[in-house]
Amino acid sequence: MSHILIAEDESRIAVFIEKGLKANGFTPCIAADANETLRMVLGNHFDLLILDLGLPGKDGLSLLQEIRGQGEELPIIILTARDDINDKVAGLEGGADDYMTKPFRFEELLVRVRLRLRNRQVTQVKEDRILKAHNVVLDLRTRKARVGDQIIDLATREFALAETFFSHPGQVFSREQLLDRVWGYDYDPGSNIVDVYIGYLRKKLGSNLIETVRGMGYRLRQ
Ligand code: CA
Repeated sequence: MSHILIAEDESRIAVFIEKGLKANGFTPCIAADANETLRMVLGNHFDLLILDLGLPGKDGLSLLQEIRGQGEELPIIILTARDDINDKVAGLEGGADDYMTKPFRFEELLVRVRLRLRNRQVTQVKEDRILKAHNVVLDLRTRKARVGDQIIDLATREFALAETFFSHPGQVFSREQLLDRVWGYDYDPGSNIVDVYIGYLRKKLGSNLIETVRGMGYRLRQ
């Protein structure tokens, strides 16, 4: 479920996009001015930003530069009434990934959103070594987790357990498989260590993140 920020001051358009994204399984949020947009982008973990260049508070291109200047790498699709080629070039050079002009068709926006998110996933796995699910991020380099904007320290086994789930979203793992992958040696099959560690992860990363599949084991909630 991707979190998408819609930066748009015309509420009619913002709500139109919001509804469409919701209907397609995304979790959208609206910001109605430039400062709110900046605050929300930096304070949360959105997967994508749809950015109107004409927002109150600040010029859209300066806002874009500020977002990139803070090292924020989320995909950005500019959606604007400005159809001047110079604006388009400036937007793309300023760090936007895509540029659409109004009036627009929602279907086209949706295609572009999906494309950007797909590219993003591939890039993340390849380069950033980051795994994401819901509002939880696992950084495979630092071996730390992040929930929202909070850094969470995980013990070695906790991290390995989380990594197993995050690398195989939707797959059910039995206790035996998890013991084998995470603990890596023969453990007393009667041991409840897996359940204990699942409990730790739920406490640290969110109670709904890993679900129990009755009689089978555990899996990452889809
Ligand atoms: Ca506007």
